[in-house]
Amino acid sequence: MNSVIKLNTLQALDFDNSFTRALPCDPERANRRRQVSEACYSRVMPTSVSRPQLVACAREVAQTLDLDEQVCASDLFTEVFSGNQLLPGMDPYASCYGGHQFGNWAGQLGDGRAINLGEVLNSQGERLSLQLKGAGPTPYSRDADGLAVLRSSLREFLCSEAMHHLGVPTTRALSLVVTGEEVMRDMLYDGHPRLEPGAVVCRVAPSFIRFGNFQIHAARGETALLRRLADYTISTFFPHLGAPSPETYLAWFREVCRSTAEMIVHWMRVGFVHGVMNTDNMSILGLTIDYGPYGWLENYDQDWTPNTTDAGQRRYRFGEQARIAQWNLLQLANAIYPLIEQAEPLEQALNEYAAVYEQGWRRMMADKLGLASFDNALVSELTDILQQVETDMTLFYRRLALLRTDMKLDDEREWRDLLMPAWYQPQQLDAGYKSRMQNWLHRYLQQLKAEGVSDELRQKKMNAVNPAYVFRNYLAQLAIDKAEEGDYSMVHELLALFRQPYDEQPGREKFAEKRPDWARQRPGCSMLSCSS
Ligand code: AMP
Ligand code: MG
Repeated sequence: MNSVIKLNTLQALDFDNSFTRALPCDPERANRRRQVSEACYSRVMPTSVSRPQLVACAREVAQTLDLDEQVCASDLFTEVFSGNQLLPGMDPYASCYGGHQFGNWAGQLGDGRAINLGEVLNSQGERLSLQLKGAGPTPYSRDADGLAVLRSSLREFLCSEAMHHLGVPTTRALSLVVTGEEVMRDMLYDGHPRLEPGAVVCRVAPSFIRFGNFQIHAARGETALLRRLADYTISTFFPHLGAPSPETYLAWFREVCRSTAEMIVHWMRVGFVHGVMNTDNMSILGLTIDYGPYGWLENYDQDWTPNTTDAGQRRYRFGEQARIAQWNLLQLANAIYPLIEQAEPLEQALNEYAAVYEQGWRRMMADKLGLASFDNALVSELTDILQQVETDMTLFYRRLALLRTDMKLDDEREWRDLLMPAWYQPQQLDAGYKSRMQNWLHRYLQQLKAEGVSDELRQKKMNAVNPAYVFRNYLAQLAIDKAEEGDYSMVHELLALFRQPYDEQPGREKFAEKRPDWARQRPGCSMLSCSS
């Protein structure tokens, strides 16, 4: 095994900036908003801030960078990850990308408030790109300010880490810093702007390249540049695919389809709704990226979206995420078509996406139920029942794991008491619902008995895929309320909680409880806008 190197200073980080080295830079150096053509990025400096203060650092991410935890407590750490200082070897830039927003081509978007600092090569040979979000304007900021507020930055910081520990592919977050500046935001876009604390998150991922990075060059007819970006992406992140050729590009697209399908299966497993699945928010590495008005499913509802901006169309609702990802992949296929010039294998790959997703989803649903094999009728009846009365998805599966095969289901109290914590409004449980649930439980128990796994083993397996703790929307809001008053204790408490989301954590039971009634209609808990 490789020895673990611990760096006790930030200056020891080993930067290897492959993106800026391999790809063409915008020749204009002025940081003014503009269309940038024939280039993949613009060099740009983070904006200095007045009084940066570290709110939290994710020690696991620091460890991945080989950083000793004490480095995170240093003044230099806060200075660097607020954008006030650069380390030797950093080469800051904002990348150029486009995208389809809510189904429509939006033209150039780009890193409007993300500034990439550089790529670290860690002691394991892994490439980790560091990116500040909210560190000031770039040529891609359009009419916005390039900043981020504490509210949305806290949500991104904690959710990235929660998702990672849940086993969902995601970009990571190293740090959350408040800048000491105030930023004006109209949170609900209803004419009530207020000043909010500014903040910067440092995100970490092998790469932040999105579908939109390819789309922008395709849309502009910059085929040579499109090819350079694809070649760079493949040689750096998919080196096993070999030298560039139409076959290699196709194999690469198939891998993107596969990793995207796997990511969405995870979202469906844990009840994550991204909220803004625009093609500029789709990672080429199949990572969950750009945490904005996302939400966690509380009562099971296929049609739920947390994003008020999408409330009418509900394009990005929970139950649509797999289909939308396929639509986004189709846009990527269109973008890279000039490199392949054959439509049929691209279409085939998109069909494969659907098959991989379906297969993954079936496996996942069987796992959630602790069954060896997927039973379509059983699962579709369950998802109907879950939607019939308000049922907390997370609690339901944890409680279901407690079912025993020797239970007398005819005695309604047995199963009713067991599942009670999952129902939001027990008065909704009418006779029709009860008999339907009872019948379903009968069939479920029958299948469990047929498979002959012990209750203990089944419970263990179910609890390994059905989390006890997820980042419930109201928990985020409570942490934000406190943080805005300067109390960061809940950020640390949640960060610790989410390290073991599948384990019951004595003393922390309150974080597993269903959404309280006050949170039902409160902005931030049940509805979010893109304002961040
Ligand atoms: P999003 O919907 O957050 O993924 O953002 C879509 C586009 O808007 C991206 O190009 C972002 O960089 C840009 N953007 C969002 N918020 C800001 C902001 N406050 N300042 C500058 N650009 C922004
Ligand atoms: Mg985005």
